Amino acid sequence: MKISKAFSGIALTAVAALALSGCAGGGGSDPEVADSPEFAEGTTMAALADAGTITVGTKFDQPLFGLSGPDGNPEGFDVEIAKIIAGELGIAPENIEWKETVSQNREPFIQDGQVDIVVATYTINDERKEVVDFAGPYYVAGQSFLVPSGNPKGITSDPTTLGDATVCTVTGSTSEDNIREYTDNIITVDKYSDCIEPIRSGQADALTTDNVILAGLVDQNDGEFEVVDGTFTEEPYGIGLSLGDDEFRAFINDTLEASFTDGRWEEAWTSTVGDNLALPEPPTIDRY
Ligand code: GLU
Repeated sequence: MKISKAFSGIALTAVAALALSGCAGGGGSDPEVADSPEFAEGTTMAALADAGTITVGTKFDQPLFGLSGPDGNPEGFDVEIAKIIAGELGIAPENIEWKETVSQNREPFIQDGQVDIVVATYTINDERKEVVDFAGPYYVAGQSFLVPSGNPKGITSDPTTLGDATVCTVTGSTSEDNIREYTDNIITVDKYSDCIEPIRSGQADALTTDNVILAGLVDQNDGEFEVVDGTFTEEPYGIGLSLGDDEFRAFINDTLEASFTDGRWEEAWTSTVGDNLALPEPPTIDRY
């Protein structure tokens, strides 16, 4: 990775100007792109840099983290994190190929090579680590509940108090695994946005998943819903990659760590989630 000092200085100035001009909360910024970076032969980094493109799996229906934008390209914090990694490989945002992943196809997409990385509100856990590897975390979310405004069922973030409430969640997510420990009154769908209609129709009383995904859906649906206070799990978000590709994992971890201190990670947050949620502290990378 070789970003010249002068170039990164210019890029950061541009980023600061963007933030000042009120673009925060929009579709993100353009993180700097390394100029002809060099990597050891035979590595995934060298192959991607040579190809000049990377295929990234992300969500297309999750406002603030990964939402398909007006031009078809996704926007959000996950998208910006992927752009930072691509940039370090010398790949400009317009040369990233975005592929929609839903919760349950993230591991298979990595395993069969349909994507090079997954950046998709993807919790690092031991079960998944049996089939894919993770760099990160780059953010830590927590599971909670979205309910109709006014919270008619009095749902709290303590799942032991759910009573007879029916909750909607997504197949293949940790949200589903976690909530199954507390109730059998569950409707499962493919995407979190598919839980909105069941709640509107009264078929479900709540949607349960990570608080930041819920915050995005509240923001998208103008006063119709709210998120209850508190969380009952920890969801460290990682970047999924092929099992056993330790060099690529170390490279992504190095990139994330650098972005935590040089302003790129903060800019990724500010330009996407910034208006809705306070800036968190960057987490500690887990180099397992
Ligand atoms: N972070 C959780 C997971 O990876 C829930 C969000 C999602 O399904 O993307 O399963």
